[in-house]
Amino acid sequence: MIILVLNSGSSSIKYQLFDIDRKKEKVIDKGKVDRIGDIVPTHKKALKIILGKISTKIDAVGHRVVHGGAKFTESVLIDSKVIKAVEEFSELAPLHNPPGLMTIKEAMRILKGVPQVAVFDTAFHQTMPEYAYLYAIPYRLYLRYGIRRYGFHGTSHRFVAQEAAKLLKKSFGSISLITCHLGNGCSITAIKKGKVVDTSMGFTPLEGLVMGTRSGDIDPAIIPYIMEKEGLKADEVLELLNKESGLLGISGISNDVRDLIRKKNKNSRARLALNIFVYRVKKYISAYIGIIGKVDAIIFTGGIGENQPWVREEICRDLIDSKTKILVIPTNEELMIARDTYLISRRLTERKRRKS
Ligand code: ADP
Repeated sequence: MIILVLNSGSSSIKYQLFDIDRKKEKVIDKGKVDRIGDIVPTHKKALKIILGKISTKIDAVGHRVVHGGAKFTESVLIDSKVIKAVEEFSELAPLHNPPGLMTIKEAMRILKGVPQVAVFDTAFHQTMPEYAYLYAIPYRLYLRYGIRRYGFHGTSHRFVAQEAAKLLKKSFGSISLITCHLGNGCSITAIKKGKVVDTSMGFTPLEGLVMGTRSGDIDPAIIPYIMEKEGLKADEVLELLNKESGLLGISGISNDVRDLIRKKNKNSRARLALNIFVYRVKKYISAYIGIIGKVDAIIFTGGIGENQPWVREEICRDLIDSKTKILVIPTNEELMIARDTYLISRRLTERKRRKS
């Protein structure tokens, strides 16, 4: 089955073309159209450029969708009801869902009759218990506006968790893991017997770990204080917490761990940024060990998790007993999307065959 995976960001669409069946998973093409809104006028046009490059017949399309709210607990075949629901969640993810939706609608129009599947960043986390996903603010705000923890990076956490289960020769339903996705965005997830019980990103991807340019956890009272002292509006403080904080904000040098590691012995702020980053991950891992109890393995993934042994060592030092395994598993969100799309399309084909 030839599957096109589309990952639409605010100014780019990344794509990968897979040839997949029960025994094979092969990437046959990949690429990116960027500078949408600048050189390329719209997502529609970007998709046309991508489809123009592909000469093979496409059997199914898998779309990455950032926010599926609490409604989508797994990947789904896209129909008008799914589109409407994703539109509703655009309010919760104003930067991310609209470009995804534009691409979905256009792909449905151009590739009429080709099954299209939505794979949500939030879906894997929807097994969290109420006491883990609710904030202790007036309950009516949750009822009225859906203010709660949703979690993100779910496709990546699920991919590495499934690969870990294969490596450790355990069934997914019996494995307990702590998965650390450390890239530019960072999040950590506690998985007990194959189900997410907690994750560090919250209502938005701003909460939790220290990231390249995001602050992660802070005291919320800091926000009005900064507004008053610096004369900033709420959205400007949010921009500061999303784009000027984290590793970049502390070091004043870079959001890239590579630069900070190179300078850590000469520059005290570079070292401090790394120390804060490592400390926060350690704190979360310890909390999650407390929640899960027996952990089969701690998994590192993402640009930092996969490529920075110094960071992994610092995080794991004095943290765990020697029986807990530490695994580095490269993430592959596109492959996870392709696998889901393959399974859902195959089920659809089989159902159609049975009917006829
Ligand atoms: P994104 O979350 O945007 O996909 P990445 O997962 O690539 O980003 O993570 C970016 C971070 O990973 C940077 O801090 C960078 O230092 C680190 N990183 C990425 N690739 C490498 C590499 N090959 N070697 C060392 N560090 C890397």
